Amino acid sequence: MTVPPAIPSATNGRVFVVGATGFIGQFVAEASLSAGHPTYFLVRPGAASPAKATIVKSLQDKGAIPIHGEINDKQLMEKKLKEHEIEIVISAVGGATILDQLVLVEALKSVKTVKRFLPSEFGHDVDRADPVEPGLQMYIEKRTVRRAIEQSGIPYSYICCNSIASWPYYDNRHPSELPPPLDRFQIYGDGSVKAYFVDGGDIGKFTMLAVNDIRTVNKNVHFRPPTNFYSINDLASLWEKKIGRTLPRVTISEDDLLAAAAENRIPESIVASFTHDIFIKGCQINFSVDGAGDVEVTALYPGETFRSLEDCFEDFLVMIKDKVDDKGTKGLPNNPKSVVETVPITAVCS
Ligand code: NDP
Repeated sequence: MTVPPAIPSATNGRVFVVGATGFIGQFVAEASLSAGHPTYFLVRPGAASPAKATIVKSLQDKGAIPIHGEINDKQLMEKKLKEHEIEIVISAVGGATILDQLVLVEALKSVKTVKRFLPSEFGHDVDRADPVEPGLQMYIEKRTVRRAIEQSGIPYSYICCNSIASWPYYDNRHPSELPPPLDRFQIYGDGSVKAYFVDGGDIGKFTMLAVNDIRTVNKNVHFRPPTNFYSINDLASLWEKKIGRTLPRVTISEDDLLAAAAENRIPESIVASFTHDIFIKGCQINFSVDGAGDVEVTALYPGETFRSLEDCFEDFLVMIKDKVDDKGTKGLPNNPKSVVETVPITAVCS
């Protein structure tokens, strides 16, 4: 791919993050603050869970300014965008409310002052990937939002960051906060199809580099760090090295994944359909990113490094050590599943 010359950061424009109390949005809001942007974030009305209240307080302590409301309130969005002279809007709403962004797009269109909009993507290139249902429905909605943005004329970037750095459980709501297994590995197909795994902090960091870069205007921004390119067999070996022992491997076939998707249990079946798309069909790697509409972050920012998956898995080791105390990594618990089950799960990936 030919990379145009580097363009220095445009401005430290005012950023408005929607979904900052969510899993991905928090990384983005933190990265916006770290990059020195005046950062505003949307807080939905209603009783806040203790976890959400903690995130709100933590962002405020770091200087972020809360705006109370919802994106499907067009008048309020227009008012707040004008009042705070917002230049960059980044949405990380969850999979269940993707279409709420259509109202936000209308508000952006009417204020005319926003220089860049990043809709809630943060996964695959939804125009290329083609998962089975029920995952497909989410992609259809993300595509609908893409078309509305393109029609509006608002400059945009689509962040295609691929998978979050974690064990990709196919049967959980949100794999990213769970440590890899301690009892057995479930290997998808022959376990050889590779994918890109990106630390949450790096999703935030590279997103913020992209919003300030003219080279990413109206592009798919792909994250393909060669250092974090693993098959599920590779992931299993990495984890075995960390925990200092080997675990049995169980094959989850293509038919098993399709059957889990067909059960249509939301959100678990959505995760199963994405797992099928990634680890059987190879949706992250079955196309090249050299089209006119594509840029790739390691080519755009060759001086920036990604946190290695090896390092990310170290965090999971610490998580497990805290929970099992006694004999370190060699003395893993008799019932490892209980360790996994105590960790909260939150949302739907890709
Ligand atoms: P979460 O469900 O964790 O968070 C969603 C956020 O959006 C919350 O802050 C929520 O507020 C807010 N929100 C939802 N609807 C509205 C609305 N109408 N008005 C205002 N705020 C709203 O989402 P995720 O972080 O899991 O998902 C974000 C994106 O990232 C999605 O596109 C998803 O597909 C993708 N993703 C990708 C992953 C990957 O591995 N690549 C992993 C996870 C997600 P509240 O706190 O009030 O509910």
